[in-house]
Amino acid sequence: MTKKALVTGITGQDGSYLAELLLSKGYKVFGLRRRTSVPIMENIEHIKNEIEFIEGDLLDQGSLINAVKVSNPDEVYNLAAQSFVGTSWGQPVLTGQSTGIGVTNILEAVRLTKPEARFYQASSSEMFGKVVETPQKETTPFYPRSPYGVAKVYGHWITVNYRESFDMYACSGILFNHESPRRGVEFVTRKVTDAAARIKLGLQKELRMGNLDAKRDWGFAGDYVKAMWLMLQQETPDDYVISTGETHTVEELVEIAFGHVGLNWRDYVVIDPKFVRPAEVDLLLGDCTKAKEKLGWKLEVGFEQLVTMMVESDLKKLQN
Ligand code: NDP
Ligand code: GDP
Repeated sequence: MTKKALVTGITGQDGSYLAELLLSKGYKVFGLRRRTSVPIMENIEHIKNEIEFIEGDLLDQGSLINAVKVSNPDEVYNLAAQSFVGTSWGQPVLTGQSTGIGVTNILEAVRLTKPEARFYQASSSEMFGKVVETPQKETTPFYPRSPYGVAKVYGHWITVNYRESFDMYACSGILFNHESPRRGVEFVTRKVTDAAARIKLGLQKELRMGNLDAKRDWGFAGDYVKAMWLMLQQETPDDYVISTGETHTVEELVEIAFGHVGLNWRDYVVIDPKFVRPAEVDLLLGDCTKAKEKLGWKLEVGFEQLVTMMVESDLKKLQN
């Protein structure tokens, strides 16, 4: 029998890679999409005819119940969220409503309509925030540093709670930063690769940045969606850290991206306090031993390969 999956956040970076993966495995894919005046389809243009879209919003409980009823899914992947940390200080209430309470809304829709469906929640390494141990693993206590991180902690625990309260197959993937040519341009990796490409082509003069000392554990989104799927194929539901086990500074990222197009970043990068955050997450480094051992998950794309892939893609997009 054909398996059915409902994916929220289908138009985002991860939604697009996950949809590709599920389609390649023969799933019927339903995508929850919110109504926008101009459709946001860039990431899924190439597969949009293979996806059945259902209109809905994480803030609208009835639309989620309808989405679960219509799709009658075997698996539900909750990827939708206000996902940008920077914006979460400017829109803390909306972030709490979608990134936090939105998880309860979709869990309730599943519990009331199709409780046996398997559920994946997109948790985040931002929950570790001001880290209390390094590297961070499943047992590391949370100390979020932004309204986004706080909302993700709520989403994480409500997922655990529904598993324990209602015996639902609900998993939470604590994913460290993952990037790709489909990453939003406000995130630091894409901002940098896009700028390196623009400056190389004479379309931009400088790049204004915040804290170059922050360290992140950056992986490739295409590798990470495989872990989401694996989490829902186990005998029992559990939570897993997904990471590369390597950390790099923002400065290293800038150096590799500019170096790839033959430029010295120091000639172009300007520090602008506008991009310095009210509270910073200084260092993230994940230990994904559990995922490697129990899920058999493995990483394919390394940091340098990821950055150069993104620069190449941005060069190509700008030249077309
Ligand atoms: P994106 O920002 O690329 O995608 C977010 C998606 O959520 C978009 O499809 C967006 O729709 C949708 N969305 C936002 N608000 C709502 C809402 N109220 N109702 C319905 N849909 C909504 O994020 P990513 O793909 O990078 O990330 C996927 C998930 O994983 C997110 O929950 C994110 O917080 C989490 N995560 C991501 C990490 C990363 O490094 N990428 C790390 C850890 C966790 P629209 O196109 O209409 O805006
Ligand atoms: P995050 O880890 O989810 O917050 O992912 P981001 O890509 O938004 O940011 C990663 C790190 O880069 C954070 O520590 C930011 O403070 C740092 N950073 C430095 N300059 C910038 C910038 O101009 N934009 C963004 N988005 N982040 C920046």
